[in-house]
Amino acid sequence: MMAVQPPSSFPLPYPRPRPDCEQCMRLEGMGRAARAAHDRSRETDARVLLRHHYREVHENRATPGRPGC
Ligand SMILES: [Zn+2]
Repeated sequence: MMAVQPPSSFPLPYPRPRPDCEQCMRLEGMGRAARAAHDRSRETDARVLLRHHYREVHENRATPGRPGC
């Protein structure tokens, strides 16, 4: 049987990485690789980094000088 349900210990929503953003893709790939390796702490790291990056770059449009990536 395949038990690939996401663990409920991650309350953080996973932002959608932007395909056109190199950093998003890198962090998403990092999280995916970590998950494949069953490395939870590294997967969490990747998520946190992606979230942080996402908020800083893609959601905070009020910050001048950083249009996208
Ligand atoms: Zn990005």
